[in-house]
Amino acid sequence: MISRNHFFLSFSLSLYVYRFILGVESIFYVFIYSILTGFFAFLPDIDIRITNKVREKKKKASWVSIFLFIVSLMFLRIYVYLYNFPDIKNFSYLFLILGLIFFFFVLFLIFDIKVLGLIIKILKHRGVTHSLLFLVFLGVLSHYNFLFFPIFLGVLFHIIEDMFSYRGVEVFYPFLDKRFNILKIKATKNLFFQWFIDVLSLGLIFYFLHIVN
Ligand SMILES: [Zn+2]
Repeated sequence: MISRNHFFLSFSLSLYVYRFILGVESIFYVFIYSILTGFFAFLPDIDIRITNKVREKKKKASWVSIFLFIVSLMFLRIYVYLYNFPDIKNFSYLFLILGLIFFFFVLFLIFDIKVLGLIIKILKHRGVTHSLLFLVFLGVLSHYNFLFFPIFLGVLFHIIEDMFSYRGVEVFYPFLDKRFNILKIKATKNLFFQWFIDVLSLGLIFYFLHIVN
C-alpha cells in the first residue's frame, strides 16, 4: 500500500478508536492523536527508503571496486616491468606502493559492500518494522506511556493494511519467513484501489464528524 493510503486510512480509522474505544472526550485531542497515528502508519515503510539508498551505494561501490582493482593490477604490472631495469629500480617502488594502496582500497570496498549487504538484509522491506515483535515492543512502551500509543496503533494499522497487498507481511519476522495476507491486491500499481481507499477514508472521516456532531 502506498504512503498516502496508509496515512489517510489509518487516520480515519483512528478517529473511531480514540473516540469510541478509548473514550477520548475532546474531539480536538481525538484529531491530534489520529494525525499522529496516521503519521506513524506510514513510517514503517522507511525501511524501503533506506534500503534503496544503501542498495544504490552498494551498486556504485561494486563498480568502483572493479575499476580500482584493474588500476591496481596496472600499477603492479608497471612495477614488475620497471624492476628489471637496474638504473630505475628505486623509481619502480613508487608503482609497487601505488598498486598496493589501490589493492587495499579494493579490499576495504569489498568489506564495505559486505557490510552494506548486511544492512539491506536486516532492514529488508517488511522485515522488523512490520513484525509482531516490533508491535509487542511498542505495546509495552505505550503501556507505560500513552504517548507511544499512536506509534503502536499506527504500526498496527500499517501491518494490517499491508496484509491486503500482494506481497503480504512476514508478521513473525525474524522467527518465521512466511508471508501472510488477507487479500492479494497489487496496491502500488492499482490506481483504482488507491482511489477506493481515498474515498473510503474520506467517507469514514465524514461519517465520524456526522455522528459526533
Ligand atoms: Zn509497509
